[in-house]
Amino acid sequence: MSEKIKKILNQEEFSKSDLIELMKIDNKEDLILLFKKAYDVKSKYVGRKVYYRGLIEISNQCIKNCKYCGIRRDNHKVERFAMSKDEIMQSVKWIYDNNYASLALQAGERQDEEFIAFIEDLLKEIKILSNGKLGVTLSLGEQTKETYKRWFDAGAHRYLLRIESTNLNIYNHLHPMDNKHTFEVRKKCLEYLREVGYQVGTGVMIGLPNQTEEDLVNDILFYKQMDIDMIGMGPYILHKDTPLGQEWENIVINEKKRVELGLKMIAITRIFLKDVNIAATTALQGLDPQGREKGLLAGANILMPTATALEHKGKYLLYDNKPGIKDSVEKAKEIMDNNVKAIGDEIVYGKWGDSLHFKNK
Ligand code: SAM
Ligand code: SF4
Repeated sequence: MSEKIKKILNQEEFSKSDLIELMKIDNKEDLILLFKKAYDVKSKYVGRKVYYRGLIEISNQCIKNCKYCGIRRDNHKVERFAMSKDEIMQSVKWIYDNNYASLALQAGERQDEEFIAFIEDLLKEIKILSNGKLGVTLSLGEQTKETYKRWFDAGAHRYLLRIESTNLNIYNHLHPMDNKHTFEVRKKCLEYLREVGYQVGTGVMIGLPNQTEEDLVNDILFYKQMDIDMIGMGPYILHKDTPLGQEWENIVINEKKRVELGLKMIAITRIFLKDVNIAATTALQGLDPQGREKGLLAGANILMPTATALEHKGKYLLYDNKPGIKDSVEKAKEIMDNNVKAIGDEIVYGKWGDSLHFKNK
């Protein structure tokens, strides 16, 4: 056990070099100390409580071409789908009836008026169905400020838009330049979301080739600088039919290391930012059957059980071997419930579980 790590973990404030020291931890004893500290901070600031967001992946149609993502525009092997309003409302009703209290709508990116109006109408219907009692998160990519405002006014109040990586070389390597997919635009979108009034969520992919411990610490400093309320981040996982799935097949760090890095990111973010909401993501579970529980023990407090219609689940494949694609909504719930019970956290039904960081402002 290192005295240096012990000393850093006892501090209240952390410098960038402290955070890098923590990110570089590579021995078991220090890792246990780090996760224990993060769990203590979680217990103190947000409680040993877990909130569910029922995740509905409403469409895999996408105008963007991110080089890592299985549903990118140019992957012609994907069977495209878009759930109808009735199908989505059935999932919404299931989430409402099962008292999750919050849902998240996620999809590939579209910016056309037909899509914008569809989401706007959908949000109004969700509000009517639940009497305004369902918390609604959107994860629908980059939009204009006006679109974000229309959706906010229609009933959405949280938005997840990952910055993916704050290292510009990595960012530019991940995203083709041909459709103006720039870091500046993405960051501007986060600013628009804040100005409109959303609880703002972001995150990064972890364990990318050439990504250093300092890069990951810079990502956490970015969360702080942008005053982010919610974090959803997870390990990068290869998809064989993507440019990076092929380019990186033999150089990406091994799965165990990527999970460990993902857990360290959760823990250090919790210790540094304290009262934000942090999700233990599906990608963590994708690389480790105990990924979700480990995420909660490292400081996460949000889970996103999928409520996507079973017939479409297998078409929303961002990466290879995505877990749970054959599970019904009931099965997904049962698995999550057991995951949480296994570690002794409390699942809070019927409450929104808004980011305390947002409320405390
Ligand atoms: N299209 C919207 C967007 O990009 O913000 C929302 C949906 S997108 C599929 C949600 C997230 O999936 C992305 O922000 C990205 O971080 C993650 N993702 C995509 N491909 C991935 C991969 N191969 N490994 C890990 N995460 C991935
Ligand atoms: Fe589309 Fe989002 Fe995938 Fe990029 S990450 S290709 S925007 S679905």
